[in-house]
Amino acid sequence: MALRDIITIGHPTLRKKARKVTMFGPALRQLIDDMIETMRVAPGVGLAAPQVNISQRVIVVELPADEETGTPAELYAFVNPEIVKTSREIEENQEGCLSVPGYVGEVPRPTMAVIRGQDGDGKPQRVRAYDYLARVFQHEIDHLNGVLFIDRVTDPAKIHKITPEEAENATGEMAEALVLMDGEAVLMA
Ligand code: ZN
Repeated sequence: MALRDIITIGHPTLRKKARKVTMFGPALRQLIDDMIETMRVAPGVGLAAPQVNISQRVIVVELPADEETGTPAELYAFVNPEIVKTSREIEENQEGCLSVPGYVGEVPRPTMAVIRGQDGDGKPQRVRAYDYLARVFQHEIDHLNGVLFIDRVTDPAKIHKITPEEAENATGEMAEALVLMDGEAVLMA
């Protein structure tokens, strides 16, 4: 496994529509392994291939374990993921992005999403995600279409820079890929 560099806003790859994966093999598995490692080190809760300058439809998502409820970490790797169903219910919540460092914003998203795609071997897979997990999947699939969370913010006033003070206060939570701001968990993906 190897760490890959995460590109940031201004890089053209982030705005391209990523290509569908048609070749399944060692190179793809290597990419997925590298993306998982890069996401964990960042740390983040999700990563899309365009963020490591690979314009292909691959995402990884990992929610940290919840020690309180004993829920183990959930890791997903999806190739050619598609959202096939979403809830009518929309919720606005804070998001950040590893490719838009230093900023967070309030983003409205459906609270449930069904994602269909393939695993690293090309086998079909499907997941029904709720709440936070549904949000991360939607954020990552947006990356495959050249869309960033800042495009989905309904009001520019709902984007703001993380202040050095907030960043400092958040350090402990960053270890779990979460920034705590105003008592709210912010996803970095
Ligand atoms: Zn992102």
